[in-house]
Amino acid sequence: MTPIITYLLRWLCPKCYVPSVMAIDPQVLWRKGIRGILIDLDNTLVPWHGTEVLEGVRQWISEVKACGLQVCVVSNATSGRRVAKMSEWLGLPNIPRSFKPRRWGFRRGLQILGLKPHEVAVVGDQVFTDILGGNRLGAFTILVQPLSHHDSISTKFIRLFERLVLRWMQQRSMLTTTMD
Ligand SMILES: [Mg+2]
Repeated sequence: MTPIITYLLRWLCPKCYVPSVMAIDPQVLWRKGIRGILIDLDNTLVPWHGTEVLEGVRQWISEVKACGLQVCVVSNATSGRRVAKMSEWLGLPNIPRSFKPRRWGFRRGLQILGLKPHEVAVVGDQVFTDILGGNRLGAFTILVQPLSHHDSISTKFIRLFERLVLRWMQQRSMLTTTMD
């Protein structure tokens, strides 16, 4: 049983696990050959269903852009208007209703940025959507802790499994906080 679990965990395991986007150093990503970020919206850039961007997050986006990295928001949120409003406020292109972990939204993001999968980092707060999808894409995946404790009912349910999976990864020393 254990080898099967370990194999499955590999698909769900982020390359890096950090407290928030602000802990991601864009220069380290640049040195790794990464030129773009496909980033989740809810609980990654704004609190769940939030309509305001924290000052620290806004500043981080500016630093990322100043470093030369391109960014595109790839969200599963169904409210296209809110995703567009938040993204435009940050000056970022966006893809709502992307059905992560399907790769469709990420591929659309790659097209917009003109980059290949190995040239992007996928950043998000959920293992079963952002990280699984990003790993399937072949990107450098970064898991962040959610910005708020609020989630949709379905996500709350999935979080139960997520906690279990993260604990298993921790027990196997699969989680790392460094990007190098
Ligand atoms: Mg999210």
